[in-house]
Amino acid sequence: MPELPEVETTRRGLERLLVGQRIRTVVVRDRRLRQPVPRRLPQLVAGAIIRSLERRGKYLLVDCGTGTLIVHLGMSGRLWVVRDDAAPTPHDHIDLVLNNGTVVRLRDPRRFGLVLWRAGDALAHPLLRDIGPEPLSAAFDGSVLYAATRNRGAAIKHVLMDSHAVAGLGNIYANEALFRAGTSPRTAARRLSRERCSVLAAKIRETLELAIGAGGSSLRDYVASDGMAGNYQSQFLVYDRAGEPCTRCGTKIRGIRQGQRSTFYCPKCQKS
Ligand SMILES: [Zn+2]
Repeated sequence: MPELPEVETTRRGLERLLVGQRIRTVVVRDRRLRQPVPRRLPQLVAGAIIRSLERRGKYLLVDCGTGTLIVHLGMSGRLWVVRDDAAPTPHDHIDLVLNNGTVVRLRDPRRFGLVLWRAGDALAHPLLRDIGPEPLSAAFDGSVLYAATRNRGAAIKHVLMDSHAVAGLGNIYANEALFRAGTSPRTAARRLSRERCSVLAAKIRETLELAIGAGGSSLRDYVASDGMAGNYQSQFLVYDRAGEPCTRCGTKIRGIRQGQRSTFYCPKCQKS
């Protein structure tokens, strides 16, 4: 599943190709994504000049002036940049075709992705308006995390996975950030001190920035927008390493289930 660093890597890769370009049309081969693609989408965007490509959580926002294309990659979506004479494969559901012949193509075998249209303020869309602070923004720090965890008796790992507390962190990076912060994923969120929240917020940012710098991870279906696989996963410190030695202390990494998600941690380095 594409996580925040992959989406941000995709955004950065596409930004320089899209911004300032005019949209020729949108080709919709299959509307049946997580929500149906709007029937009028081609009429709504044809001729628009793309003003910006932003990200909110794991949503990409293509500002077309009169409104915004909201794109989510779901479980298995990825965006490819191809020329307009490149033949589509069976899972290539949507093409954004630019006047200059460049095509941004959504391939999504499981069809949990989204391509929606929002006239007016995109951030007020029901899918976006309740998303918590962006972990890479200046608005996210220890005091924000401290405030967000005061009434939460749930495990900190669980809270970090909640997009109301922090936008789009995702399972892999929640595991990795907790290891870097030396905090057990099982600790009750409200028990974390201000100081530990500060360390954790800083480590969340550091973990994401390292992953973005490496081009995101390349788990299963994800390939960056230029078609190159990311290479962050070779650097995972705990994720998917159950039974292997901790890189810091040699203790075997433990794998457990929390909610429906896999958690990995070092029982010695990560304190409750
Ligand atoms: Zn350890």
